[in-house]
Amino acid sequence: MDQDFNVNEAETVITPIRWCRYLVNAGYATVAMIILAHIVWYYAAKNILTGPPDVYLRNYIVLPAIGLPALNLLVDYLVRLPRIPLLFKEYLVLLLYTALSFYLSSTHRIATVLLGTFSMSVFASTIFADIKMTRRIFLINSAALVLSGIILLKGGNDNSGVLMAVFVSWDILFCSYLLAKIMIRNGHNQLNSLMHLYDLKENMQEQLKLDPFTGLYNRGTFDACLTGMVEECRYENSCLTLAVIDVDKFKRVNDVYGHAAGDRVLLHLSQILKSNQTEDIKAFRIGGEEFAILLKGYHVKEAYRICDEMRTIMESSSLNQIDRRIITFSCGLACTDIQPAGPEALLRAADVALYEAKNNGRNCIVIYAGP
Ligand code: GH3
Ligand code: MG
Ligand code: MG
Repeated sequence: MDQDFNVNEAETVITPIRWCRYLVNAGYATVAMIILAHIVWYYAAKNILTGPPDVYLRNYIVLPAIGLPALNLLVDYLVRLPRIPLLFKEYLVLLLYTALSFYLSSTHRIATVLLGTFSMSVFASTIFADIKMTRRIFLINSAALVLSGIILLKGGNDNSGVLMAVFVSWDILFCSYLLAKIMIRNGHNQLNSLMHLYDLKENMQEQLKLDPFTGLYNRGTFDACLTGMVEECRYENSCLTLAVIDVDKFKRVNDVYGHAAGDRVLLHLSQILKSNQTEDIKAFRIGGEEFAILLKGYHVKEAYRICDEMRTIMESSSLNQIDRRIITFSCGLACTDIQPAGPEALLRAADVALYEAKNNGRNCIVIYAGP
């Protein structure tokens, strides 16, 4: 019965596992850049290399060209394994960047600036929008940075230079962590605003389906539902009964007791209709003092019993100021079993039955018996 206004979101939403794959692919690009930079450096600065060229070739080109892609491939393989939990995969791809930074910073004694690359995985972690994860990645990278510093110190470097580089790089890492936290909070905030807007939109769409005075479904919704339900019942090979209800001598109620009293009668009847609504019984206000009920899967006899209970409640109700006058309604019923045509024909049939009920003296229900 509810119209589905949702667009297909699956095309626009990138799942966490897809983000993992993107990060792994970016890892391949980073590895390629590292190896390329080493090759360029090998040819551009051959005569200022700190060690013999063949050692450089082995340590900075051949071994990384084997080890780093192998590491990347291993992470890629694990990310594709279905039985590994998603959270574990997310940490794994972030730690791939930590490993790359660790390799870069602990093997380049003349380029301590590479200690700054530990910020990479902290920034990458913002993709998963989990502040706890970002904090853990920051702590792991801090430890890896200190470890790299120790390795550099042990390598016999200029100690004060290394200490300064470790200190500055940790500062950068810490600032990256603070910025990452702000970015994640901003993301959460935007998501909340979007969800709020989505709720508002859903709410407004629901309101558009309702009659503002009685809160019942309105005429437009009735037309759409009638067409939809006739189709559904035809498809499911079940029956649909339509009841059209009209308050008796309502003009006189307004004239004698005033419009406000008439309004109270309409609200009272709406309440009776609402209390009988279920998944398969829907009530509508289709005009001023005209209402309709769609009973999906109900044969006309069952529908008659339900409507007659409502009619009895209505005639025995006493309302303030108009309690001396009995307020009643008449009802016409049409069922797809008897009138197996489209929605318009069903509505016409129910109207014919209602007209007959009015002619029969009102306060009664008439079943359309066929042309
Ligand atoms: P019948 O038994 O033949 O249906 O007689 P009736 O007087 O109910 O029929 P008619 O169609 O002549 O009158 C309907 C009246 O319903 C006229 C209109 O003033 C009144 N009406 C329509 N909408 C509202 C509303 O929202 N509030 C009130 N108080 N009256 C309304
Ligand atoms: Mg009327
Ligand atoms: Mg009327």
